[in-house]
Formats: sequence, C-alpha cells, structure tokens
Amino acid sequence: MTTSRDHTVTKRPASDAVGRGTASPSSWGFGDGQAIPWEYAPAPESREIVKLQSRYGLFVGGKEIAPRSGQWFTTLDPATEEPLAEVARAGVEDVENAVAVARRAFRRSWGELPGRERAKYLFRIARILQERSREFAVLETLDTGKPIKESRDVDIPLVAAHFWYYAGWADKLDYAFPGRTAQPLGVAAQVIPWNFPLLMLAWKIAPALAAGNTVVLKPASSTPLSALLFADVCRQADLPPGVVNIVTGPGEIGLALVKHPDVDKVAFTGSTAVGKQIGRAIAGSGKALTLELGGKAANIVFDDAPLDQAIEGIVNGIFFNQGEVCCAGSRLLVQESIAEPLVEKLKDRLATLRVGDPLDKNTDVGAINNAAQLAKIEELIEAGVAEGAELYQPACDLPERGYWVRPTLFTNVAQSHRIAQEEIFGPVLSVLTFRTPDEAVEKANNTPYGLSAGVWTEKGSRILKMVKELRAGVVWANTFNRFDPTSPFGGYKESGFGREGGLHGLLAYVRLEDR
Ligand code: NDP
Repeated sequence: MTTSRDHTVTKRPASDAVGRGTASPSSWGFGDGQAIPWEYAPAPESREIVKLQSRYGLFVGGKEIAPRSGQWFTTLDPATEEPLAEVARAGVEDVENAVAVARRAFRRSWGELPGRERAKYLFRIARILQERSREFAVLETLDTGKPIKESRDVDIPLVAAHFWYYAGWADKLDYAFPGRTAQPLGVAAQVIPWNFPLLMLAWKIAPALAAGNTVVLKPASSTPLSALLFADVCRQADLPPGVVNIVTGPGEIGLALVKHPDVDKVAFTGSTAVGKQIGRAIAGSGKALTLELGGKAANIVFDDAPLDQAIEGIVNGIFFNQGEVCCAGSRLLVQESIAEPLVEKLKDRLATLRVGDPLDKNTDVGAINNAAQLAKIEELIEAGVAEGAELYQPACDLPERGYWVRPTLFTNVAQSHRIAQEEIFGPVLSVLTFRTPDEAVEKANNTPYGLSAGVWTEKGSRILKMVKELRAGVVWANTFNRFDPTSPFGGYKESGFGREGGLHGLLAYVRLEDR
C-alpha cells in the first residue's frame, strides 16, 4: 500500500482493482502483454495567486471585524489536512449585530435604491468575479478539495453568470411578474453548505440583492474562505455597507440566524435533517422559506441510448465534485438487456479516472471535503458490502494524507439496500436494472427524495413521457449535471421546496402586490 490510511473497506495492494478484474491504467498490455506505466506528469496549478490571511474576521457593515464572542476556529485543506487559516467563530451577539446592520442597510440604502442602481453594483460584482476567477478557483479548490478543473471551468464561471443574470433583472422587476408589483422582503438569512460554497453563495445573494433585499449569510464551517474573499469583492465594488454580511461559525449560529425575529426570509441548502429542523424552528413566524436539501437521483439508461455518451454522462453524474452533489446521479438504472456491456464499459472508464491532488489540472476526482463526510461514505460502502452488493473500485494510489475515497461502483444492488436508499454524498454509484419503462419510473420514484433525474434514450417521445412521470424537480435528457442561471432548480418531497435560478429564483425574494 502507498497509503498510510486505507479509507476503503477492503485492504488490498494499491495496484489491484477490487471486484472483477478490469484493465487499469497501470496494467494495460501492449501487444506482447507488456505493461505500460501510464504516468502522468504533474500539472499543478500554482497557489501563489491566493494570499491567505492568517485570520479572517466577520464581514459586517462593509468591514472585517473581530467576533464579539472572541472565538476562532481553523479551516483545513482536505487534501493535506493542513490548516489554511483561522476564521471567526461567531456567537449569538455577533448574529444580533449582523442582522441589525443588515436591517439598517435595507431601510437606509439598498431597499430604497432604484433597480437600475442596484443593477450597476451587481454587474460590477460579476465583472470583478470574472477578473479574479483564477484566484477564486484556486481558493475554492484549496478549501473544498474539489479538482481545480471543476472550480475553474464550472463553479466560478457559473458564479459570475448568476450575478450577470440577476443584475439583468434588477431594473426590470416591473416586467417580471405581469400585473403585479414586486417588493423586497427585507433581511434574508442564508445558510449554505460546503460542496459548492461560492456557487451556493451566488445562488442566494444574487437574486436577493437584485430584488432589493439585504443579506446575512453563513457559510459552512469547513469551507468559509471563498465567502470571505467575496467580502473583498463587495468592498472592491463599493457595495453600500451592510448590504452583504458574512457570519462564520457552527451550525448553532446558523440556527440562531434563521430564528432571529428581524429576519424576513430564510434560504437554506444542506442536509434534509437540518432543513427539517429549520422548518420546525421558524414555523408560524411568517418568514418566507426555501429549502434545497438532499437527493438520491436515478440516472436511467434505456437500451437505445448511445452507450459511450451515456458512460460519460454517468461518470459526470456521480464523480463530478466527488459525488458530493445534492443532485448527483447516484442510482444508475440500466435496462436489463444492456446492463452487462454497460457495466463493463463503465469499469473501464472508472479505471482511467485520476484521483489525487485537487490542484493538479489532470485530476478528475479530488479529496472528500471533511473527516465526518469521509466517515459517512466509508460507513455506507461497508453497509453495501455487508448487505450483499458487489463492490468494484479501480486501482489507484491515494495520497498519504487527506480524505480520499476511490471511485466506487456497486452492482447486484437491491432496492432495499441502504446504498440504494440513503444519500451517500460521495463517489459511490449503485447500479440497478429494469425491464420496462414503467418499472424504471417506479424504481426511480421509490425514494423519499425528488431533486433530479436523468434519462438516456434516442426517443424524444420517451423522454417526454419520463419527464412527466418522474417525481423530480429537474430531469436531464441525454446529459447530466447541467446548470444555467436562467433555469430553475429545486426539489420535491424530502429534497425541499422553492426554486433557485431563473425567474422562479427571483420570486423567492419578493412580495407581490396587485397593481
Ligand atoms: P448540514 O446540513 O449540517 O450543513 C449545511 C449548512 O447548515 C452548514 O452551513 C452548517 O453549518 C449549517 N447548519 C448545521 N446545523 C444547522 C442548524 N441546526 N441550523 C442551521 N444551520 C445549520 O450538512 P453537513 O455539512 O453536516 O452534511 C451532512 C449531510 O448533508 C451530507 O452527508 C449530505 O448528505 C447532506 N448535504 C446536502 C447538501 C445539499 O446540497 N443538499 C450539501 C451538504 C450536505 P456548519 O458547517 O457550521 O455545521
């Protein structure tokens, strides 16, 4: 083993795939059976562009301030377990202060500003984000463990796109909801998770500001840094003080924030358990609420699907961001007649995924974000094996330190298995089969969640039928994990309610009055 800690359930030599033998990059023969060592030259992105402070305070009233609590915590690089910086651990008094400042900014400046003036600030923020995109991409990768090619090519461009998009709405609210006048709600409390820290910030802050609200945002404790760099963008854009406030600290601070009586709107993305807790905590308070929670998406492949294209979609569906994606295609439903060739192709493809240094531009699968998440993934992989599913993991050497999981595939999975029911939130794919479209729908809908789904088929009519019958907020056809600021995103059932993105996302931040 080259790893000091084996994070997977089966102990084995690093060069051997687990499960039925499949060619791995290090064992592919070359005609005469000789193995070629496929070593990739390292292609690390420089981290020089990021100037980390040793300590970050709270961002309140346009300034970085020390927490009144007097406490700090450390955020780590999950790829190395090295500390990155100390961050303020807000107390309840800091939340009180941030909400009071946001309320003042709403009354005195932002809430009164004409839409065209708000738009200017949002356009400015979008432009600065683009200008500083490399800095943000590197910082996001350092703090989350996600591959640099994803933060650089997906997260940060989408972040800027959200600000561009909602900037466009700020002066057109009178036309957004025909016959109705849109008024801002007031102060928005926003709590976001660690899987897409800056993107979730953008999903929440851009529509809130476009509609004339002010915000207090709490990032996840394991990934606060990109939100704190965003504070610098707000300063650079001369955003009026108090319009955006960022409060770092543990979950209990998130709860204190959403419960604060002077908050008008709550937006949360994270686990279903915390979403329910928030729902209970603010029930009857009159606060507007949107919840974007977990998922257990079915990615359904019919026998007429273009297989090679589907393989790429399946891989993107579950291994993008290490599978730490609420809408990840974590249940693969394959039509029985093509299950065998598809699984073989999938195993070959998995063997080519490069797992390792998230800052390396060749890396496909980075580090798991935090130790608790790693433990949860490992526990569910163990449960899959114990319940009788067949495990396959390609050979790959994992770095000695940090939080890592090999790309994992389970076949022979039953509907009742925990790995088919529970959100794993990691690079673990469960493969199930079906015979008829009706069976596919029944199996896909057999989950407490309803966030997303994927359909792979050549037939347009089948796509339309499936879209109608699948109980999921988003259904992708012949693609997966595509996002666009103009397109609403959100779930049903235990995946939450309300939509983010598009006009629907704006609706969540306004009160409509008859003209
Ligand atoms: P949480 O739901 O606990 O965390 C999400 C955010 O909520 C974080 O900012 C967290 O703060 C905050 N928070 C935690 N507890 C409370 C509370 N009682 N009231 C208000 N805010 C709170 O997710 P985890 O990070 O613990 O991940 C657990 C599981 O949740 C994952 O394994 C995954 O299944 C799911 N998940 C789903 C996500 C999604 O996008 N839908 C995103 C992240 C996780 P802090 O970080 O300080 O604890």
